[in-house]
Amino acid sequence: MNSRSAPSGVTLAERARRVIPGGVNSGQRSIPGLTEMVIARASGARFWDADGRQYTDYHAAFGPPLLGHNDPDVNAAVAEAGTRVDLCGVAVTHGEIQLAETLAELVPSIEKVLLTSTGSEATFHALRVARAATGRRLVVKFQGCYHGWHDSVSLNVISAPDRVGVPDPISTGILPEVLDATLVLRFNDVAAVRAAFAAHGDDIAAVIVEPVPHNVGCLLPDQEFLQALRDECTRAGSVLVFDEVITGFRHDLGGWQRISGVTPDLTTLGKAIANGYPIGALGGRADLMDLFSTRPGAPAFFAGTYNGHPAVVAAALATLGKLRAEPVHEHVYRLGERARAGIAEALADLGVPAVVTGHGSVFVTYFMPGPAPRSYDDLLRNDAGMFIGYRRRMPEHGIFELPLNLKRNHISYAHTDADIDHLVEATRAAVRDTLA
Ligand code: PLP
Repeated sequence: MNSRSAPSGVTLAERARRVIPGGVNSGQRSIPGLTEMVIARASGARFWDADGRQYTDYHAAFGPPLLGHNDPDVNAAVAEAGTRVDLCGVAVTHGEIQLAETLAELVPSIEKVLLTSTGSEATFHALRVARAATGRRLVVKFQGCYHGWHDSVSLNVISAPDRVGVPDPISTGILPEVLDATLVLRFNDVAAVRAAFAAHGDDIAAVIVEPVPHNVGCLLPDQEFLQALRDECTRAGSVLVFDEVITGFRHDLGGWQRISGVTPDLTTLGKAIANGYPIGALGGRADLMDLFSTRPGAPAFFAGTYNGHPAVVAAALATLGKLRAEPVHEHVYRLGERARAGIAEALADLGVPAVVTGHGSVFVTYFMPGPAPRSYDDLLRNDAGMFIGYRRRMPEHGIFELPLNLKRNHISYAHTDADIDHLVEATRAAVRDTLA
């Protein structure tokens, strides 16, 4: 099957657009210039489109396949689970118990944990239980952080310059009073956090933060900033939520909280837990999580038909087992360093002002002079035309980086040194051609 093999010469993508709004099933999958792309196959560090073109993949579906696409060990575990059990929707399975024990062992803040199917459900329930625990209304988030599609957090992610500092919803259809209940602050701005707590501390139910805001590439957190969040929440009795949907397992088995030593009250997880199978998790302090006791009459309600699906749980156990048993982090951290250093050198050779940043397996090149950005405002200096322009040329070199402004790249265990060398040379050529 190729992209034109549909009846009467209609492309597959056109068929998709006739029956799927926008032709894709999630925001930011429909890319200007790539609207005819149909994905056919994926394996290891690569995917192929329906016309047989091969791409070395650094987009990585926004982050899940840390081991590489279609990891055979993860797939074998899923197939094996399917021979034993599927969804029964009552009580609990052995796998769910093992997975909860593993997450509690690995992630410092987690005493108890509940499984969801997505990261958005995990952040939704984190805010629900924070409000249930505190009886308060307000949530604090940071400009540039994304926490999923639900109303309390659907604002101020990638904002136009004139929308920074004011409520900037990513969708219509959200009640104004819901938007009003979310305060948006600048990342790494300790003074702003202290001022918000001074003004509203008694009504702040939760602070939710990506400890490394990767939804705008990579803003590295100041240690004092994360510590200030911890201190202010503790003092005011607010719930600190680390949204580790990206950082969890990708940067460390214990998440950014283990790297930083700052322990939140609640942690949300997703993406890399199960290498691409659909799962999320919400875990944290037992007293908070117990408000969810999934019994009738509990203060906070939690449910989901597919939560803890045995196939997905098997995928998570196999993924975490492999992350623990094999030098995955060592490999991706080393390749990440190599990529950042190589790209920085290539762009310096070309005389292009750029900040090549990231952490571990994540890398991103901003087209602006240094220093490295510390908050979203700094990213307004990035040349979006260059950022998107060179990425649009990367497929000419057999490489895929999502051509959307501020999106990060990911390296997996399946990428090799040779892949990174090719990436660096392709980036050099694509940037040079974009400048021409
Ligand atoms: N939190 C963060 C930090 C994310 O990056 C995302 C998704 O990109 C989410 C939450 C939402 O996760 P999901 O798309 O699985 O609902």
